[in-house]
Amino acid sequence: MNPKRMMTVYSLLNIPPHTGCRNCGACCGIIPATPMEVREIEKWLQAHPGIARAADSRENKTVCPFLTEAKRCAIYLVRPTICRLQGVTMGMDCRHGNSANIRGEPLLLGATIDNTVILNFRDWSV
Ligand code: SF4
Ligand code: SF4
Repeated sequence: MNPKRMMTVYSLLNIPPHTGCRNCGACCGIIPATPMEVREIEKWLQAHPGIARAADSRENKTVCPFLTEAKRCAIYLVRPTICRLQGVTMGMDCRHGNSANIRGEPLLLGATIDNTVILNFRDWSV
């Protein structure tokens, strides 16, 4: 799925944007994703190999490998659902305040330990 189509899928999920995000990077820690989300990230990295190299060179595995030094998301268009829920979901509070409080559980249905990939511990070489 190309990023444009991916955006369409995410817009159908109806997740509001976190308008209060200040790009502090504090919520970009250990990040789980589904296999489908990982496939979309891999496709993105094939077109942006420098991002993959930067991700693999990270030593601190407690921070998401796609958080840049400028505290920006290097895979913003294809970031996983869990990232989109931060700051707009009940129970996923932003340190600067949420800009919405939707229910997140229905959007994560089907996510289990067995089908979850932790972005931090993966090899992203392409
Ligand atoms: S959602 Fe909040 S904690 Fe996360 S980067 Fe934005 S301002 Fe920081
Ligand atoms: S994928 Fe992007 S938004 Fe999500 S934790 Fe990593 S840097 Fe943050």
